[in-house]
Amino acid sequence: MSASVTSPRVLAIDGLSGSGKSTVARAVAVRLGWAFLDTGAMYRAVTLAVLQNGIDPADRAAVVGLLGTLGVEVTTDPQDVRVTLDGVDVADAIRTPAVTAAVSAVSALPEVRAVLLRWQREAVARASESGTGIVVEGRDIGTVVLPDAPVKIFLVADALVRAARRAAQDERRTGGERPQGQVLAELQRRDEADSSREVSPLRAAPDAVTIDASELAVDEVVNSILHRVAESVSR
Ligand code: C5P
Repeated sequence: MSASVTSPRVLAIDGLSGSGKSTVARAVAVRLGWAFLDTGAMYRAVTLAVLQNGIDPADRAAVVGLLGTLGVEVTTDPQDVRVTLDGVDVADAIRTPAVTAAVSAVSALPEVRAVLLRWQREAVARASESGTGIVVEGRDIGTVVLPDAPVKIFLVADALVRAARRAAQDERRTGGERPQGQVLAELQRRDEADSSREVSPLRAAPDAVTIDASELAVDEVVNSILHRVAESVSR
C-alpha cells in the first residue's frame, strides 16, 4: 500500500466547499489520462444510508453498526463517475439538501473516517496497480489520505463567488432557485464544521500550494495545476 501512496503519480486536491474542486479535479484527471476519486461522494453515500435507515447522525453506535453492512462504490473514471449504494445508483440522491446538511456530522465520526480512509487507499492502490496515476479530491487528502503526494493543491475562493457558483450548480441540477444568502450560510456552516472537527479537519497541508480561484476560469486553474504536476513528474 505504501508504494501507491508515495507514487509520483498521485495528485491531492483539497479545499473549501464550493471552491470548484470537483470540476477542476475531474478536468485535470481527464487531461492527464489519470483516474479520479471524489472522496466527498463516499461520505455523502454513507450519509444517505444513515438518513434512509432513519438513524440520527449523532447516534455514533448506530452509524458505526450500519457502516459495516454498506456496499458503497464510487467509480474512478473521470469521464464516467458513478456512485452506487448497495448496487443502486445514488449520484443524484447524495446531492440533496438533506444529505448536504447531515454529511459533516457523519464525516466527523472517527470510525467513519477510518473505514473511508481504507476504501480511499484501496482505490489509490488499484489505480497504481493498473499503471495509471490518480487525482484524489476531498478535505484531508494532502494531510491524511496521501501525506506523501508530491503535488498537493488547496483550492480556495471568495465566499460570495463560491455561493454564486454553488447556487447556479444547484439550479442546473434541480431546476429550483434558492436565495444566495441561504447557500452562502450553508457553505460556511459546513466549512466551519469540517474545519473544527477533531479528526482530520479540513486544512491545507503545510506543503500544499494554495490557489485562489475567485477570479480564475476553470481552465486557468486546471492549467496551473497541470503545470505543477508536469514539473513534479520531470523532477
Ligand atoms: O466534497 P463534498 O462537498 O461533496 O463533501 C461533502 C462532505 O464530505 C464535506 O462537507 C465533508 O464533511 C466530508 N468530506 C470529508 N473528507 C473528505 C471529503 C469530504 O470530511 N476527504
